[in-house]
Amino acid sequence: MDVKKIYMDANALLEGHFKLSSGNHSGVYLQSAKVLEDPKNAKKLADALAQQIKASGLEIDTICAPALGGLIAGFALATALDKRSIFAERVDKVMTIRRGFEISKGERVMICEDIITTGGSAMEAAKAIEEMGGIVVGFAALANRGFCDRANSDITKKPNCKLPDGVPFFALDDFTFEMYAPQDCPLCKEGKSEAIKPGSRGN
Ligand code: ZN
Repeated sequence: MDVKKIYMDANALLEGHFKLSSGNHSGVYLQSAKVLEDPKNAKKLADALAQQIKASGLEIDTICAPALGGLIAGFALATALDKRSIFAERVDKVMTIRRGFEISKGERVMICEDIITTGGSAMEAAKAIEEMGGIVVGFAALANRGFCDRANSDITKKPNCKLPDGVPFFALDDFTFEMYAPQDCPLCKEGKSEAIKPGSRGN
């Protein structure tokens, strides 16, 4: 499946000068919400991801998505796997399981994001699940931003990947666009534009 083409066709692969949630700058921004606004895309991507997860034989009880970015991907994946779908959300900056969602002791939970960059939010959701007695058995995302290693790809793990060793990570593709620390950003050095955060200025 050509995930990059699906993103491009949905105008979800933006080119410009962007500030990512990690604080880094990039010339490319992935706006997964634009892909997932078509439920057919959500289903197609989640079905392909579910196939990969089923083929691995990993046993899962529940999918948990960190809000807000992971919500649609998580729900679509849970639908494709016929599992329970819950989400974690930030309360005073701390990723928390609310809404009356319960986790039984030993419940096998997969954390699902739209895109995993370093896996920071995914790990915060994992911590919230573990504090309630669940076991995080895997991570999933529609695409991997290239810092973490994943099943079925020979991409190598970079030092800033926060996902733990020994817990499988499933994604459909690797999107390895360059990212820069703000002080090293060539787009900033050009001086023609300021990095913007898509979604925060009406786009
Ligand atoms: Zn910049």
